[in-house]
Amino acid sequence: MWKCSPTDSQLAAEPSRPVLLGHVLAHEIGHILQGTDRHSETGLMKARWDSREIMAMDWKPLSFTADDVVLIRIGMATREAHLLASR
Ligand SMILES: [Zn+2]
Repeated sequence: MWKCSPTDSQLAAEPSRPVLLGHVLAHEIGHILQGTDRHSETGLMKARWDSREIMAMDWKPLSFTADDVVLIRIGMATREAHLLASR
C-alpha cells in the first residue's frame, strides 16, 4: 500500500474537501496509471503537499508534471502490451 494520504494537519488546513478529495484521487490514479509508487518533487504527484498548496487548490489546482505525463503514457503502453501478449 502506498503511503501518500494526506496527514491530519493537511486535512485540517484544507479549504474544500471535495477539491482535496479530487486531488487525492487523481494522485492515486496517477500511481495506478504509472504502475509505480514514485513521487515527483512538485505538483499532483508530490508525496506530501504543503499547507500553502492545499489552501490554494480551489483556485490553483495542482497538475501532473511533464515527467508524470510521460510515465503515465509508458505505464499505459506497458499495460496494453501485457494485455496483448496474454491473448
Ligand atoms: Zn503517492
